Amino acid sequence: MNSQTSTGTMLDNTKAHELDSLFKPRSIAIIGASSKELSIGNVIIKNLVHYNYTGKIYPINLKEPEIRNIKAYPTIFDVPDEIDLAHIIIPSKFVPQIIEDCGKKGIKSVIINSAGFSEMGEEGMALQDAFLAKAKEYGVRIFGPNCQGIINADPQFNAYCDFTFTFPKPGSISIVALSGGVGAFIMQSLFDLDIGMRMYASNGNACDISISEVVTYYGEDEGTKAIILYTEGFRNPREFMDVAQKVAKQKPILAMKSGRTEEGAKAAASHTGSLAGVDIATELIFEKIGILSFDNEEEMCQAAMAFSTQPIPRGNKVGIITNTGGPAVIATDELIRCGLQLPTLSARAIQTLKETQLPEASIGNPIDVVATGGAIHFKSALDVLMDEEQIDCIYINFVTAPFTDTDEVARAIVAVNNMKRKPIVCNFMTNMSMERYQATAKILKDGGVPCYSFPTTAAKALGSLYKFHKIQSRNIGETKIFPDIDRAKVEEIIARTGINKHDTNGNLSSSGDGAFLPSADVYEILAAYGIAVADWRIVSTTDEALKAAVEIGFPVVIKAEAKAIVHKSDMGGVAINLKNEEEVTAAIGKMKLKLSSSTDLQFLVQKFLPGGRELIVGVAAQPDLEPLIMFGLGGVFVEVLKDVVFKLSPLTELEANEMLTSIKSSKLLDGVRGQKGVNKASVIDIILRVSQLVNDFPQIQEMDLNPIMAFEDRTIAVDARIKI
Ligand code: ADP
Ligand code: MG
Repeated sequence: MNSQTSTGTMLDNTKAHELDSLFKPRSIAIIGASSKELSIGNVIIKNLVHYNYTGKIYPINLKEPEIRNIKAYPTIFDVPDEIDLAHIIIPSKFVPQIIEDCGKKGIKSVIINSAGFSEMGEEGMALQDAFLAKAKEYGVRIFGPNCQGIINADPQFNAYCDFTFTFPKPGSISIVALSGGVGAFIMQSLFDLDIGMRMYASNGNACDISISEVVTYYGEDEGTKAIILYTEGFRNPREFMDVAQKVAKQKPILAMKSGRTEEGAKAAASHTGSLAGVDIATELIFEKIGILSFDNEEEMCQAAMAFSTQPIPRGNKVGIITNTGGPAVIATDELIRCGLQLPTLSARAIQTLKETQLPEASIGNPIDVVATGGAIHFKSALDVLMDEEQIDCIYINFVTAPFTDTDEVARAIVAVNNMKRKPIVCNFMTNMSMERYQATAKILKDGGVPCYSFPTTAAKALGSLYKFHKIQSRNIGETKIFPDIDRAKVEEIIARTGINKHDTNGNLSSSGDGAFLPSADVYEILAAYGIAVADWRIVSTTDEALKAAVEIGFPVVIKAEAKAIVHKSDMGGVAINLKNEEEVTAAIGKMKLKLSSSTDLQFLVQKFLPGGRELIVGVAAQPDLEPLIMFGLGGVFVEVLKDVVFKLSPLTELEANEMLTSIKSSKLLDGVRGQKGVNKASVIDIILRVSQLVNDFPQIQEMDLNPIMAFEDRTIAVDARIKI
């Protein structure tokens, strides 16, 4: 993008992009243009004209000579000019033919507004496939179908290729939304907040041009300062991760995904497989690649206002300037909640403030310039905070006291804001029905000061800027790879199960629910990957059990082992702390009685390891994505407390470490009330080894180590399941 020309002159140094014909069309045909006011084929032309589209508009209609006073043509072949982009608003059954025509005419991009395709079942799907084939043949790119379209608010284009009703002013925020409805209201709320927009895209069925492609395009667009993304998931999550990762390094991506409450519902189940879900994965993708995710659309738009004008803070130290007490207290609470800190000011700063502020001003952080404070007092406070090395960002409460020249104050704030040294947000408290204050507000707005009408809202917006800084400076490092593993051994075990015929993508080709491996296989796999397991033997008879117990050393645990038994303790299949031969004999006798229906009943004799902290490490495979790893409190706590966290594998050490610190009861791992803490390094080691195992073997659909027993000096797995 930024390749310099050797002459150094301002030649067009941006390579033409394939999607330029979509976002920067020089001419647009509306296939299905209509003279009916209340039709999409009319509204699109009306919108283009209303928005002062700078290119040529060609309505296509078999009968009408003109539409909305613009010359119309019977077919695209009658248009004497080149056409960059076509809107298609005709019934779906004609679309394949029209796409072929577009190809022949040399049209490069097409927005299919019409519905009646993949969203309509098999017949629609067939039509979609048919036009896609034509599009591929002729090299036409398809946006949609069943979509709104795009908007490019750059005054060079003013391309309003959409049938909605919000006409944004040009700015630096670009929006991409899977749902047209959500896209439209985000655009509207930016408009209501008086935030300019750059580009907009809502691509409906997204059969060709994907969200990933649009995000890449926005990433390369110099006029886009921040991207807003709304989605409900990804068709191709891997592709999205690859491209968005690069973009997110250059500019903020603010994202929102819906369907969060399912997480809660899913967390109620005890198995990793049902604990996880596609929605969790989307969220984890955002986390992994540095996308700022929001669970509240209003907050996201409010944050966008700050992102559109302000630099990103370099740290979490905030300075507050206020001319009224209470709102500063509210703001402080929220800022702290967002992870920001209010440092005490340097002696030099205090001295300067004492010399420049009113005698009744409160000197410190917050700096209360008091209601009678005017422009010079705000200015001096701002200068001091800008010069304070330790201050990274500034929060202002500005109430329009009737006895001050509020315009002057606004100008003082703008003057400092224009230097863009540190981010500023302003909670602007006023009566907007009064002209006098509207003028003040306009000065702030025009000066690019993000203004909010609640202290919490302003503080949250600043919090988002800080969060982005945190995301950007978080270096998760490289995936941990252990050399001391026996991959061949695991390959051999899995091959033995006979159901691991997978296709070239590593996906299992056998359908069905898969199968749990026998415990012996599971423990061998764990050992091959360097995961410590409690000493064990599989036995069939009481005599064998007694022999095994002696070898392992008392006390031992006996667990029932049979295909049909998944949750052993629920079925009376676990007997712990067996201290001698009599207890082992009795436990086996009991299990034989209780579980007589399992003809394949065997027993696992295992070393009893009391006193550890029970933790869980789980895995759930994802379609088209790396497996999810879960970590949390194990044993019965999984079900009761649901204190677990997920991350997308493969994991780095930092990520594994974050898993330990981000569970609610992370303090338990440090030890409480005289109880010793656990050896965290050994827990992290297991998490990372599991991550490597499941990434090496995509055949693993589900895996649970529950519990692993964490002690002061080591961590050992005592129960494990692997589903292939
Ligand atoms: P399941 O999960 O199938 O019911 P587990 O093997 O996890 O069976 O055993 C249930 C519980 O028994 C564990 O959560 C743990 O509290 C205890 N337990 C099992 N094995 C051991 C062991 N080797 N040492 C100490 N406690 C154990
Ligand atoms: Mg268990």
